[in-house]
Amino acid sequence: MALFGTNGVRGVANVEMTPEMAMSLAKSIGTFRNGKFAVGMDTRHSGAMLKNAVIAGLLSTGCSVVDLGIAPTPCVQYYVKRHADAGMIITASHNPPEYNGIKGIAGDGTEMSRQDEAAIEKIYFARTFKNANWSETGSVACADPKPEYIDGIVNAVDAEAIRAKRFTVVCDTGCGAASVTTPFLLRKLGCKVITLNAQVDGTFPGRNPEPTGNEINDLKAAVKTAGANLGVAHDADADRAVFIDDKGRFVNEDVLLALMTQYKLQRKPGSTVVTPVSSSSLIEDIAKQYDSNVIWTMVGSIHVARKMMEVGAIFGGEGNGGLIFPEFQYCRDGGMSAGSMLEMLAKTGRKLSDIVDALPSYSSVKEKIKCKDKDRVLKSIEDDVRREKAKADLTDGIKIFRPEGWVLVRASGTEPIIRVFAESRTDSGARTLADYGVGLVNKYNR
Ligand code: MG
Repeated sequence: MALFGTNGVRGVANVEMTPEMAMSLAKSIGTFRNGKFAVGMDTRHSGAMLKNAVIAGLLSTGCSVVDLGIAPTPCVQYYVKRHADAGMIITASHNPPEYNGIKGIAGDGTEMSRQDEAAIEKIYFARTFKNANWSETGSVACADPKPEYIDGIVNAVDAEAIRAKRFTVVCDTGCGAASVTTPFLLRKLGCKVITLNAQVDGTFPGRNPEPTGNEINDLKAAVKTAGANLGVAHDADADRAVFIDDKGRFVNEDVLLALMTQYKLQRKPGSTVVTPVSSSSLIEDIAKQYDSNVIWTMVGSIHVARKMMEVGAIFGGEGNGGLIFPEFQYCRDGGMSAGSMLEMLAKTGRKLSDIVDALPSYSSVKEKIKCKDKDRVLKSIEDDVRREKAKADLTDGIKIFRPEGWVLVRASGTEPIIRVFAESRTDSGARTLADYGVGLVNKYNR
């Protein structure tokens, strides 16, 4: 049984995510990496219950703890990098309110590696916890990580250029952790700030924690009504940010990744950007324009971040609003995304709607197919691809290139389904490719 999924441990609070389980996990992590831990959480109702169990577990192994309270995931990561040996965050990111989760942070502020997670899992299941002698159990201090994080972003972007523009920004923090950072960050950048859902509330009364295009209609309307330059929304732990342009239109996450890539490469052509195989070909189109290259990784921000460190990439991210700015830190950062977006608008002097409309457009289709034996089906498709010598990328799943575009067939990490994702210049091209991908799965899915 695997404990860790793509994004740490997740489940329904007090069903899978019980205090007992949280404490055992914390004991395992504290046994694996003894030292000073920073612990933070998003705004979920069950956060306090799980955080206190985590803290107790860490203390029992002799670790000391700095309790950071409610803070965005990247804010905790920034604190760990500067002040602690490791971190633990209580969050279920974009999942519905009844969920919660726990993820581990390495000493450099990045997400814990898969190898570390495997070692922790081993301790968890074998219950070989370190039990500190009574006089060596840990102690707890409290700290506020927010001012340093906000100032860090202000210093990492061209704050003077942004302030000179006096932007109007509407920000929908969805009652999540960014409610305690993003509005204050924007104000420090000289913006006129209008907030939506900025009260801390783990029942998420305003909208779902996942800021999809359909979820943030209030934000779209508010941007139009206020005549704002920009709208920004976060998921519950604010490692992701999505944007609304000055015309009140949702900026597709793949387009967001592309326009930020474009901005970074304009300023430093001949660089490297990193993104998962599931991202749009837009990234490649832009990289070509600026003599730059793209490195495609497995899906999951940890793979993107580690590869970026390895190759010294200028920028990277996922097509879901998770952008990584290496000049600040090697993790997805919704606050830094907002700051960088404002810098782009200030330095280019262009409206976001103009930048979006000038990019080439792609069409995509997503399908999912129920499948009990994912590995066997994918292996059979892979054999076909090798036999036919089709142009394909096998980094993560099977990505097949055709003249009209590409189709990616990939197993879900958490559910018994296979996902098919196709992209083409035209709607009909994407549909044809998706049908082709579904056909490949159905051929072996019995
Ligand atoms: Mg998140």
